[in-house]
Amino acid sequence: MNILILGSGGREHALAWAVKQNPKTDRLIVAPGNAGIALLAECADIDILDGQTVVTFCEENAIDFVIVGPEAPLAAGVADATRAAGFLTFGPSAAAARLEASKSFTKDICDACAAPTAAWARFTEAPPARAYITARGAPIVVKADGLAAGKGVIVAMTEAEALAAIDDMFGGEFGAAGAEVVIEEFMAGEEASFFILTDGTHALPIGTAQDHKRVGDGDTGPNTGGMGAYSPAPVLTDAIARQAMEDIVLPTIREMARRGTPYQGVLYAGLMIENGRARLVEYNARFGDPECQVLMMRLGAQALDLLLACAEGRLDQARVNWADDHALTVVMATRGYPGSYGKGSIIKGLDTLPETSSQMVFHAGTTERDGQIAATGGRVLNVTARGATLAEAQARAYAMVDAIDWPEGFCRRDIGWRAL
Ligand code: ATP
Repeated sequence: MNILILGSGGREHALAWAVKQNPKTDRLIVAPGNAGIALLAECADIDILDGQTVVTFCEENAIDFVIVGPEAPLAAGVADATRAAGFLTFGPSAAAARLEASKSFTKDICDACAAPTAAWARFTEAPPARAYITARGAPIVVKADGLAAGKGVIVAMTEAEALAAIDDMFGGEFGAAGAEVVIEEFMAGEEASFFILTDGTHALPIGTAQDHKRVGDGDTGPNTGGMGAYSPAPVLTDAIARQAMEDIVLPTIREMARRGTPYQGVLYAGLMIENGRARLVEYNARFGDPECQVLMMRLGAQALDLLLACAEGRLDQARVNWADDHALTVVMATRGYPGSYGKGSIIKGLDTLPETSSQMVFHAGTTERDGQIAATGGRVLNVTARGATLAEAQARAYAMVDAIDWPEGFCRRDIGWRAL
């Protein structure tokens, strides 16, 4: 079949890598793609936020299956447009993707189905929000309602910090995303990510992972889009995963269907685990980046069969063939990230690294220039390996990192520390 993947990051490189291994795949196109993706698929430079553009592209290229990677096209209704035009599509409708795009919407869903999450309140004006913070005290969490690329959440350890966040949000720092503000109880515990495919009715867990948000070793320094991940996450035990399914995920899926907006795609549940129980921190409506890279490395070719079963509404017949393995990815970023950084530095040594089903360098922000690979973004490479143990996966990933010649790049040296 002819498959179109939308996106241009390490997540989409990993999806393309897995899909390509499946014999069902004839032609594979990634739009817009990147220099690493171009080594295994065709890349097409089209506007993936415009539903009609994507539909026309699908018609012209006889696409059989569309996989939407990032949240922006989902929120823009691209999956609605391709489905309405008759193309089999993996990814939620814009209405269902509100589980990611609006924090207060998710909180309303949790309340409606009694899913455990932090106590919360919503505000559209500063004075009552300030009064709520003063009454509750710190620590407390202040969130811009809409999408703010991970920057719209302030975990305030003092009341003053929380009040300052309110002033920033209602002062317009996050634009429309901050017109409504959610204030939440601070949850202690350990965070983990849980990935579930759902066709709107049936649900199939496809793995767990842990991310590393801070830029520096030992979880220090500013927040980033993620500096590395590993799967599985041992903190999310089978018993906790079952509890999260029963208490959080399945009730959410039923509530979305009851409202006439069934959720189809991957549901990424960010969980806080304390005293053997999970509570919901947030939902994302797509695979995590870089968590997708470790999930795809573990799933391999079967990923396409699972995504197809999801899109075709037959997840009840699907199952995951689990290997008892571990995967770990190290993000290499341009020096300066997450602050300002230079663009265009040349990365060497990638051609010395064999790409196998157990090790792969996924590209997140690269371009090809005169036959060389140049860095174009903050997060640039996802050096990913699989092993019989997490320690083995980690050792293999860092051996690959050490073979890459890129003086302008850096990475954390402790990815996986929590589980090891
Ligand atoms: P991202 O894009 O990073 O996923 P986001 O903008 O969608 O972020 P959340 O995931 O809701 O926002 O929050 C970001 C982070 O803030 C969480 O991963 C968690 O570490 C912390 N956090 C959020 N809510 C709470 C809470 N109620 N208690 C404790 N920590 C929280």
